Amino acid sequence: MARPIHLDSVRKEYRSAGSVHVAVDDLTLSIPEGSFTTLVGPSGCGKTTTLRMIAGLETPTEGRLSFGDEDVTGQSPQDRNCAMVFQSIALYPHMTVRRNIGYGLKVQGVPKDERDRRIDEAAETLQITEQLEKMPAELSGGQQQRVALGSAFVQDPDVLLLDEPMSDLDAKLKAELRVEVQRLHQELDATVVYVTHDQTEAMTMSDQVILLNQGRLEQFAPPGELFDAPVSEYVARFIGTPSTNLLPATVAETDDGYALAGDGFGVLAPADRFADRVGDSITVGIRPQYLSADGGDYELTVIAGVVEQLGTEFVVHGHTPDGTDVDAVSTAFGAVEHGDELVVGFDPGDLFVFDADGRTICHGDALAGETPRQSP
Ligand code: ATP
Repeated sequence: MARPIHLDSVRKEYRSAGSVHVAVDDLTLSIPEGSFTTLVGPSGCGKTTTLRMIAGLETPTEGRLSFGDEDVTGQSPQDRNCAMVFQSIALYPHMTVRRNIGYGLKVQGVPKDERDRRIDEAAETLQITEQLEKMPAELSGGQQQRVALGSAFVQDPDVLLLDEPMSDLDAKLKAELRVEVQRLHQELDATVVYVTHDQTEAMTMSDQVILLNQGRLEQFAPPGELFDAPVSEYVARFIGTPSTNLLPATVAETDDGYALAGDGFGVLAPADRFADRVGDSITVGIRPQYLSADGGDYELTVIAGVVEQLGTEFVVHGHTPDGTDVDAVSTAFGAVEHGDELVVGFDPGDLFVFDADGRTICHGDALAGETPRQSP
């Protein structure tokens, strides 16, 4: 039966040659039971360490871990009813697929009839029924990873932990397996925690996303909230492709009130948030998809560099006249060439504003109420 997972001030230190390395620091969060939750972040941010602590393969240096009301901090992996699938596929090469999937059940003493029933069910869910009597060497990488997922599935775990299970697969297989993993989640009564460094996977598969930054929690929210309401510049940059444009600006007092003044733009800003920040350096963030060829309340000049075609859309990689990198995405940029000067529009409601430490001051909804003004 699926159980919620609670982490309370969890810290993990590694000690070697007299030095201490903090892999995970002060992590407090609750993963809802039965949810599909993704741990995401750049290499070395502590994703695998966190997953291994949930599995019981690592013990926290400090803090408490519980499944529902049960404190599992010091409990061995076998006592947690967790199943884990790793990036490197660990199959027994001399056993058929059927025996590989059923091996864990056999060790637990599950009778053969029951084993076969569960293996057949898993194989059907993962679409590998035809492969059951083959040896692992006869399977493709994607099929082998399905077998590994099948071994986890048949154990009927309360918690299913997946550590980058698709990172060695090509893009097409990845897309197929994403669907299988989601189907697996629907059929299992388990809380699924999935590790990836691929934010697209995190955004497309999850009920919620845990974004880590150097071992600490940066934001824990549903995918849409991470995209629309990032708590920091780090989140805005990590989530979304291409990355959010970051335009340096200064808070200015003008005849019209307060403004976020950058290279060729001056966005009106509310007094209650910005009156005590006059003169401060801030950063205005805008997603490339929200820079429009059809104009907007404000305008930005972009000098085009490389233009890429992505299906029906075109990505212009350019820069402002003062050299700040800017990407813009639209179906309307097909005729743009290297060196062209574009004027793109944007609306204040689509902006993010960050302070000098990269923390979010406000999102666009706080700016959208101000009277729009064209750029100077
Ligand atoms: P990746 O995406 O590259 O797998 P990750 O986000 O999963 O990275 P972890 O593997 O959790 O990161 O590692 C977090 C930090 O802890 C890294 O700096 C790593 O070098 C360090 N680390 C992990 N395991 C150990 C260990 N056994 N001994 C010492 N340091 C470790």
